[in-house]
Amino acid sequence: MPNEHNERMIIAVHGGAGTFEIQDHPAVRAGCEAAARRGWEVLSAGGSALDAVEAAVCVLEDDPLFNAGRGSVLRSDGSIQMDAAIMDGSTSRAGAVCSIERIAHPISLARAVLHDGRHVLMAGEAALALAPQTPRCTLDDLLVPEQQARHRQVYGTVGAVALDGRGALAAATSTGGTFGACPGRVGDSPLVGCGTLADTHGAASATGLGEAIMLAGVCRQAIMALRSQPVEQALRAGLDACEAIWPKAPCGLLLVDGNGHVAAAHNTPAMPVCWIHAGHIASRLSGN
Ligand code: ASP
Repeated sequence: MPNEHNERMIIAVHGGAGTFEIQDHPAVRAGCEAAARRGWEVLSAGGSALDAVEAAVCVLEDDPLFNAGRGSVLRSDGSIQMDAAIMDGSTSRAGAVCSIERIAHPISLARAVLHDGRHVLMAGEAALALAPQTPRCTLDDLLVPEQQARHRQVYGTVGAVALDGRGALAAATSTGGTFGACPGRVGDSPLVGCGTLADTHGAASATGLGEAIMLAGVCRQAIMALRSQPVEQALRAGLDACEAIWPKAPCGLLLVDGNGHVAAAHNTPAMPVCWIHAGHIASRLSGN
C-alpha cells in the first residue's frame, strides 16, 4: 500500500498549448477535471503513477474537444495519424507509438509497447501486432465536428504527469499531431526526452510545435535542470531551450518533481491544466 509518499501524491493533466474559443472554456476545463479525477481515483486506490497517467489520458482521448484519440486533427490527405508515449520514472522504461490509425486509445497501445519491453517506439500498423486485442475503430469514429474548429485552434494535445503513493513518477502524452501535417510526419510527443519524459527526479509532458520541441529536447532539458533547481526554474529551462532554438515556436510544458511540486507554463494564449493534490482540485485555462 502507499506509504509516507501519500501526502505528496499528485496527478496533473494538460489539454495542449494553443488558443481556445471562449465558448469552449467550461467544457475544456470540465474535460481536464474529469481526467484528473480519474487519475486521482487510481492513485488513491493505491494504483501506480503509470496506471494513473494512462487512465487520465484515456479520458482526454475520449473527449472530442482535445486533439488526441477521438477528436484528433486531420492530416493534409484527410487521414488521422496519432502519436503517444508513456514512461515509468521508477524504471526509466518507456513505450511509444507513432503514425497510428483507427484505434481510440493510442496511449494504451504505447503502454503495451512498454509492457512488451523489446522496443521503445513502434510505428504504424505493425505496432498493433504487439497488442492484437486492441479494439479497432473507423476513421469516422475518431472524426468529430469539433475537429473542424481546429482549423483555428491547431493544438490540443493531451498529457499527464503523476507521483504515486510509493514515490514513483510517470508521464504520458497523446496527440493527433498538427493540423494539415504531411502523412507520416511524427511530432515530439512519442519521442522520449522531447515531448515525454519521467525519471526518479521528475516527470514532464510537453505540447506545442513538435519540430521545435524535439530539436530542443524540451522535457530532457527541464528534467536535467530539476537535479539542481526547483520545479519552476526547471520548467523555465525547458521552455527557454525551445525559445532559443526556435524563437516564438508555440510551446507549453507540465512538470512535476519527486516531492509532488507541480508547475506548468506556455507561451500561447491558453493551455488548460488541472491537478489534484491531497484530494484538492485546482484548474486553470491559462497562466504561467
Ligand atoms: N506537440 C504536438 C505535435 O507536434 C502538437 C501539440 O502539442 O499540440 O505533434
